[in-house]
Amino acid sequence: MAYDNDNIFAKILRGEAPAFKVFEDDYSLAFMDVMPQVEGHTLVIPKDPTENIHNADPVILGHTMATVQRVAAAVKTAFDAPGIMLAQLNGEAAGQTVFHLHFHILPRREGLEMLLHARQMADFDLLERHAQLIRDQL
Ligand code: AMP
Repeated sequence: MAYDNDNIFAKILRGEAPAFKVFEDDYSLAFMDVMPQVEGHTLVIPKDPTENIHNADPVILGHTMATVQRVAAAVKTAFDAPGIMLAQLNGEAAGQTVFHLHFHILPRREGLEMLLHARQMADFDLLERHAQLIRDQL
């Protein structure tokens, strides 16, 4: 499947769609997932038009993973999370719904179940407060 320039993350990168951004550098962007599975659910994407892990440039992937590592540490502190789960889905069969490569950062703690994937839109004021908590740690 060819990369779709109109996918929602491409629009966020072009500034055509809003996002609760927490971090950005030349290669990558991190922002809040609008349908979080847990509080603090954050996404990191490369700025490159890349659909999934299979067609990612390894150098871009390296830069993106450096951002994942940095943002994951900030999320861990911001949400006082004993555990951080990373997730990354490739292909519809794996559950991928947005076809621009992205990494999910999910704070986890014992007894806190995750909500269903990409179902329930969060309150935007709350998302902005969560984004600020993470920014404060970066
Ligand atoms: P995946 O199923 O791995 O492709 O994940 C896509 C993720 O993007 C889901 O967790 C959605 O909740 C999230 N998502 C969809 N649209 C937006 C958006 N406009 N801003 C932030 N996150 C989004």
